[in-house]
Amino acid sequence: MSKDISFSRRAVMMGAAALPLAQRISAQASPKATVISSANDFNGGINCCAKAMEVIQAGGDTLDAVVAGVNLVELDPRDSSVGYGGLPNEEGVVELDCSCMHGPTRRGGAVGALRGIKTPSKIAQLVLAETEHMMLVGEGALKFAKIYGYQEEDLLTDRSRLAFRMWKREMRDRSGHTNWESITDAPPKPKKIAELKKVFPQYDEETLGWAYDVAVNPPHGTINCISLNGKGEMSAITTTSGMAWKIPGRCGDSPIIGGGLWLDQDIGGAGSTGRGEENLRVAGAHTVVENMRHGMAPKDAILDALKRVSRNFDHDLERLAPIDIHFYALHKSGEYAGGSLWDRRTPKGAPAQFAVCTSDGRSRHENSVFLLQRK
Ligand code: ASP
Repeated sequence: MSKDISFSRRAVMMGAAALPLAQRISAQASPKATVISSANDFNGGINCCAKAMEVIQAGGDTLDAVVAGVNLVELDPRDSSVGYGGLPNEEGVVELDCSCMHGPTRRGGAVGALRGIKTPSKIAQLVLAETEHMMLVGEGALKFAKIYGYQEEDLLTDRSRLAFRMWKREMRDRSGHTNWESITDAPPKPKKIAELKKVFPQYDEETLGWAYDVAVNPPHGTINCISLNGKGEMSAITTTSGMAWKIPGRCGDSPIIGGGLWLDQDIGGAGSTGRGEENLRVAGAHTVVENMRHGMAPKDAILDALKRVSRNFDHDLERLAPIDIHFYALHKSGEYAGGSLWDRRTPKGAPAQFAVCTSDGRSRHENSVFLLQRK
């Protein structure tokens, strides 16, 4: 097992080329409105950033902007990592986490393990705006949402319910047995789509392939979004259904202010997606913003946080291989970056990217910087 670390050449070069951030900022006049977010499937990030920019350009508040942006993704049943349609916990119940921060008032709000509400972002914003508290969880968070008129709903979709049933079928004891499969099917056969089609005849092959894949390789998701308006005001939000098949009550990094999200109006904001436990071990979002405070450019600030993640595994590439973690950073000057531990999630996967929308209204993907390159 190699203990060596091979930082990408790109990462090293960018670190060496970084100018002190203060120098670059002094050369810049007023900040240009900018919104960044994680990429997300189905153009979730691009749509989120475009919506947030629309709110900013209409004179809206930066927190209202990011909430409106991520609402699109929370309400999209196709995104299985956020809000409605998110993959559930090990009991088949969707539990949502979210945190938000408002730069001008320096306030934060968060909810953890919230059940039954499609838009946890709106509840986190209410915690921020309406209470003296920072975070509400579980039953208390749901009761709080109901006080503000939110209806409890079933957040499972047909697709996410299928994925949950598939996961139950794939769970085996040491002898290969599962209670979730008819014994007439035993002993377990190799899982081929044709066989799954017999058990789930109402689903097409693509849906079955997706459900099988997420059942055996629980995916990561989440959306983080950070905004800056022309006056230099900033806000940020992170919202997620968390890790698929988690233990009920598990909160990852997304609702933890300082972990999955951090914003300092004097400096900038940062957020994370990916395996929350690894992020929490380096207080990632806070670390990235503190790095920017000490003069690092956003990309270098992120790469430093990623090196700390790597350090926690003694830079052992084999143990790091399954770790999926991404940071996003927006400096109050408008400078931004996305950065990932790996250049791509799987050896043949797409390059790591994030979404950005600038004041010309152009919302697009850009490539993330990365620390490690898959062979
Ligand atoms: N960071 C989220 C969590 O750990 C999940 C993810 O982004 O995949 O809950």
